Amino acid sequence: MDLNYPPEAEAFREEIREWLADNVPADGTRPTPEEWNDTLFAGGWICATWPAEYGGKGLSTIQAVVLAEEFERAGVALRADFFGDTLVGPTILKWGTEEQKREFLPQILSGRISWCQGFSEPDAGSDLASVKTKAELDGDEWVIHGQKLWTTQAHEADYIFLLARTDPEAPKHAGISYLLVPMKQPGIEVRPIRQPDGSAEFNEVFFDGARCPRDAVVGGVNNGWTVAMTTLGFERGTSATTGYRRFKKEVDDLIERAQGNGRAADPIVRQGLAAAWSKVKIMQINGFRSLTSALAGPDGGTDRGVAALAATNKMFWSEYHQEVMDLAIDILGMEGQVLTGSGEPEFVPGYGLRRTLPGYPVSVLQSSFFFSRSETIWGGTAQIQRNIVGERILGLPREPRLGRS
Ligand SMILES: Cc1cc2nc3c(=O)[nH]c(=O)nc-3n(C[C@H](O)[C@H](O)[C@H](O)COP(=O)(O)OP(=O)(O)OC[C@H]3O[C@@H](n4cnc5c(N)ncnc54)[C@H](O)[C@@H]3O)c2cc1C
Repeated sequence: MDLNYPPEAEAFREEIREWLADNVPADGTRPTPEEWNDTLFAGGWICATWPAEYGGKGLSTIQAVVLAEEFERAGVALRADFFGDTLVGPTILKWGTEEQKREFLPQILSGRISWCQGFSEPDAGSDLASVKTKAELDGDEWVIHGQKLWTTQAHEADYIFLLARTDPEAPKHAGISYLLVPMKQPGIEVRPIRQPDGSAEFNEVFFDGARCPRDAVVGGVNNGWTVAMTTLGFERGTSATTGYRRFKKEVDDLIERAQGNGRAADPIVRQGLAAAWSKVKIMQINGFRSLTSALAGPDGGTDRGVAALAATNKMFWSEYHQEVMDLAIDILGMEGQVLTGSGEPEFVPGYGLRRTLPGYPVSVLQSSFFFSRSETIWGGTAQIQRNIVGERILGLPREPRLGRS
């Protein structure tokens, strides 16, 4: 682990600070997400690691880390659309054809198109290679039939990146393709899934003869499994040295509340807060480990090593967050049981806009409490991360995989 940043990274930090000072309103007012997106786009900061020919700035890994740290410190978002610029964009950059890069990447950067992720199905979540949605060629188009589940933002998205079976005869990991499919067409029906607080962020998506062009396959026909693993790698975390900051702010806030309402006098609460604070420190240090590993290049920074650390970190922070949110509700006491939010979306540094509904106005902490239940599930469950850690880091025998080729 190396805690020192090279001088050129610190010089770059100054550049970012100046830009932020010029562009973030000093009076505390917040631009709308659309306005901020335009400002970010004009500054060239969205996906700034991408090569300049695709709209990025070609930043190095360490520059990208410094950029993320400074935005985090300023409490402003660095992304436009998670599914576009964090998941499918980098995947297209790695696997896409030149035509796909030229068509999609500029639109992702400018926020002109939004995306959703069509991986999970009723019988394919952790066992993702069991997807049954199928795509068949009809002339120059793929025709898609099947169903996706838990598709976040499908009701708003312009495109879905989906896994479909394109060779039913091949072993299950080998017959899958990764397709880019327009959402606004007659063969697609989106049905919202209502959550206990009344919101409906994710959906069931039904495909009945939906179509996309033959060349909308990313990474080659029947190579979708490998391409999907690239996307999941991005989903499991690249915010090595910034991820912990959101948790640090949260735990500092909790300590203040516990001191304010007297709960800090309770030894159990004190113990919980001390454990939480220590785990945030561990996250910070593990962030430096991940960064050192990513910077180390071929040996220390193999895709495998980075993926294994990402799995460890995802497991650690998601389980940590559930524990600390239980503690938070305990500290809030009776206040935790009543709805004290404004009903307006609030910006949470490191997270983005935290939704709350006018009819169910949860506070930021209450909303985090609810959402933390899902954090050990999305992007691969905590148990699946444990399997990855067991097999790739600890070298334990591989889990038996039924039907695996
Ligand atoms: C908030 C949220 C948003 C989501 N958004 C999207 C989205 O936009 N697009 C999308 O495609 N999906 C999305 N998902 C779905 C998510 O990817 C799946 O829920 C997840 O992969 C788990 O799959 P599953 O729900 O089918 O559970 P299952 O795979 O059925 O798992 C059930 C339980 O069994 C355990 N288990 C399963 N297999 C093993 C094993 N081999 N070893 C040990 N334990 C095992 C799991 O850990 C879990 O506890 C979202 C989920 C959530 C919660």
